[in-house]
Amino acid sequence: MPVTASPDVLEKLVSLCKRRGFIFQSSEIYGGTGSVWDYGPLGVELKKNLKDRWWHAMVRARDDIEGLDAAILMHPRVWEASGHVATFTDPLVDCRNCKKRFRADDPKIKGTPGTPDAQCPACGMKGTLSEPRLFNLMFKTYMGPVEDSASIVYLRPETAQGIYVNFLNVQQSTRQKVPFGIAQIGKAFRNEITPGNFIFRTREFEQMEMQFFVEPGTDMHWFEYWKEQRLNWHKSLGLAAERLEFHQHSKEELAHYARAAFDIQFDFGGTLGFQEIEGVHNRGDFDLSRHQEYSGKKLEYFDQPNNKRFLPFVVETSVGADRTTLAVLVNAFREESVEGEDEGRTVLGIHPSLAPIKAGVFPLVKKDGMPEFAEKLTAELRQRFPVFYDESGAIGRRYRRQDEVGTPYCITVDGQTMEDGTVTIRDRDTLQQERVAADHVARIIQARILT
Ligand code: ATP
Repeated sequence: MPVTASPDVLEKLVSLCKRRGFIFQSSEIYGGTGSVWDYGPLGVELKKNLKDRWWHAMVRARDDIEGLDAAILMHPRVWEASGHVATFTDPLVDCRNCKKRFRADDPKIKGTPGTPDAQCPACGMKGTLSEPRLFNLMFKTYMGPVEDSASIVYLRPETAQGIYVNFLNVQQSTRQKVPFGIAQIGKAFRNEITPGNFIFRTREFEQMEMQFFVEPGTDMHWFEYWKEQRLNWHKSLGLAAERLEFHQHSKEELAHYARAAFDIQFDFGGTLGFQEIEGVHNRGDFDLSRHQEYSGKKLEYFDQPNNKRFLPFVVETSVGADRTTLAVLVNAFREESVEGEDEGRTVLGIHPSLAPIKAGVFPLVKKDGMPEFAEKLTAELRQRFPVFYDESGAIGRRYRRQDEVGTPYCITVDGQTMEDGTVTIRDRDTLQQERVAADHVARIIQARILT
């Protein structure tokens, strides 16, 4: 089956996602909010399935990682300790004429900002761009009724700090021994200056982060271990191996406290190309020592068998739920011609475990007891996984509608069903149909969506 490569997949995906209810622009009827997106009925299922797979792999399937759900609002000193108040900044330049703001390293700027020859990329005026100034990416708000500097709180720009400050709470309540990890999924907020590319870079997004606490000296072993684990996880989602690669942070890119850092990059194609979807970082004891210093509370771990105390080192794995959802969509999107048919089809070849709808159920025609049989089967299957019942239009169109949203299996109730109780299961990718007893459908599909 020939595959038509598409240079503008992202554009097509934005349109498909809106049309079929995956992702809408936030506050669209008011003209939209910049780089904030809402997940519709199918999108929320897709992202939830992705988060469930992460939670399962990182928390439930292991005995050395505990889950956590820390609050978004934290004590403001947390962000001083973490370094975000002082250094979570981007250098920006302003145009005095059009008032637009740009990152100082924006390739569209001609000349050196702050000098007369520099040209604004938006209005085209020369000499109107300011010198670069540092701009903090954290959103600020006020806690309580008084809006003064003493009541400033921040929307967290990452979930990790909620884990560090709870390190001892979790360790002592669960009696975990180092090495062990704490994992959490939650919203993060960054006032990004150059957001865009759909849900790739947004101002509100979800992170899935895990901090693994280890004895100093064993950190590089665990760093290598987590690099491999995390790359394999992305492959297990069905992301093509050739679209995934590691990018090692160079000396210039490496945060001053980091001992080593690799990004897992995915090839989004087009102008985006390979971009980070996850960071794996060896953070040493930077985070715990800073929180110890700023809070005045000891955060050391007591290693009872060896009767020694130490501050663990941290290996972090940090992945964006939205950015990975985009990777899954880009990876899955196909436009194909179908043998013997004039019209081609659009397919989202999403891994069955991530697909928002697992099966479509169709009566071939709206008579002879087929709708009743199909509705009964739908009700039975719905107890186990999301199913879509559809009796409208030609059967081919009904298949196409499910292909486009990534439904892996379509079950058709036909004349033979009424005679012998069998139905057909059509596979989204191979287009093969197999005939099975209707009683077995639930078990067959359940087994396939779990693998
Ligand atoms: P980038 O360099 O792309 O801004 P980062 O290095 O700042 O990312 P981290 O702080 O390491 O990112 O965050 C970990 C993960 O969180 C990223 O790999 C990405 O998947 C996700 N992420 C970070 N910022 C955003 C954002 N603005 N929108 C969507 N996802 C994001």
